[in-house]
Amino acid sequence: MSLDVATRPLDRLADFPAIPAGWAYLDTAATAQKPQVVVDAITRAYGETYATVHRGVYQRSADMTLAYEAARERVAGFIGAGSADEIVFVRGATEGINLVAYSWAANQLGPGNRILLSQLEHHSNIVPWQMIAAERGIAIDVAPLTADGRIDLDSVEAMLTPEHKLVALAHVSNVLGSVLDVARAAKAAHSVGAKLLVDGCQAVPRLPVDVGALGCDFYVFSGHKLYGPTGIGVLWARPEILAVMPPWQGGGSMIDRVSFSGTTFAPPPGRFEAGTPHIVGALGLHAAIDYVEGIGLEAIHAHETALVAQAREALSQINSVRLFGPEDAAGIVSFAIEGVHPHDIGTILDEGQVAIRAGHHCAQPLMEALGVAATARASFGVYNGPADIDALVKGIQRVTRIFG
Ligand code: PMP
Repeated sequence: MSLDVATRPLDRLADFPAIPAGWAYLDTAATAQKPQVVVDAITRAYGETYATVHRGVYQRSADMTLAYEAARERVAGFIGAGSADEIVFVRGATEGINLVAYSWAANQLGPGNRILLSQLEHHSNIVPWQMIAAERGIAIDVAPLTADGRIDLDSVEAMLTPEHKLVALAHVSNVLGSVLDVARAAKAAHSVGAKLLVDGCQAVPRLPVDVGALGCDFYVFSGHKLYGPTGIGVLWARPEILAVMPPWQGGGSMIDRVSFSGTTFAPPPGRFEAGTPHIVGALGLHAAIDYVEGIGLEAIHAHETALVAQAREALSQINSVRLFGPEDAAGIVSFAIEGVHPHDIGTILDEGQVAIRAGHHCAQPLMEALGVAATARASFGVYNGPADIDALVKGIQRVTRIFG
């Protein structure tokens, strides 16, 4: 792997109005900055073309409906879904997972059934399952990690039994950047008759994703980590699974006919989108997908891989730094410094215009497995370059000087 990022620079910093010169924004795993084209799409939607969707008899609303549904088509194409009808717009990955828990799992799973998770999951891929498991008498098992911080698929395969009905795993760890072999996980889940849900939050901004080729059954992600707006996300599921899922929330838009003698529901995906949706969020997400595809996910992945290699190489030269996760992590590097709280690392780096995340990253069970209370995390995006890594390393050297 080449460390020479300069041979393939993305050089997209100028596209991002909220990143001032000299600021190293290294917190994209929490949320990505927005390119001007996304800001423009949102401004245009509210400032020029705004109207509701699905109900209006007037032209403006019909046009907005077309734009909203075009965003759904765009998402379907982006992740290789068979049809736009397989795309449910939600508030984010968290809501997507809760929807699957409360619509699919609550109706398909019961006492005696088991769900398999992994030690590195984000709380949003743990807590909804714990809540539904407690309600329905379902057991939860936790797959361990390999020494370098990947979900241990040998263990997953060994742990699975016919009682397992669902396996729910992160495609890319938000702490370690480790990438899951989704196709292998899907094969393992299907071999015992279980479904595979993939939390794609950290994968869609940094890897090409094709749900058909991956072979999973559910895929969720948030728009705001993909350079799009907050408040919009996606649940994809196989059409035959969506077809057996009852509504989760009731209200306008999700019905076929309402009467006090009985209400019937719209087919998917409308059945799962009660109320006025985040219309402008969907349009902003459309613009964000156009933006990342304009660069190319392969190019983004190569760029971030080179930044990870540069960061790991430089940080490993500093004696007191402990690096977590595998060498080939996707866009994310977690580390700790002996005797220094990660919050202090973050604060000192901030004084040098370097923004990282410090804490448990909504992955407390993973912190437990790593034997730390928290880590410092640098995560990359299309606007980062070698100078940001240099600034990070300089900041870390300053931390080690301050703390002796
Ligand atoms: N899963 C992973 C791996 C994440 O990184 C995040 C966000 N940190 C989530 C789920 C939850 O996403 P959101 O808060 O946008 O719903």
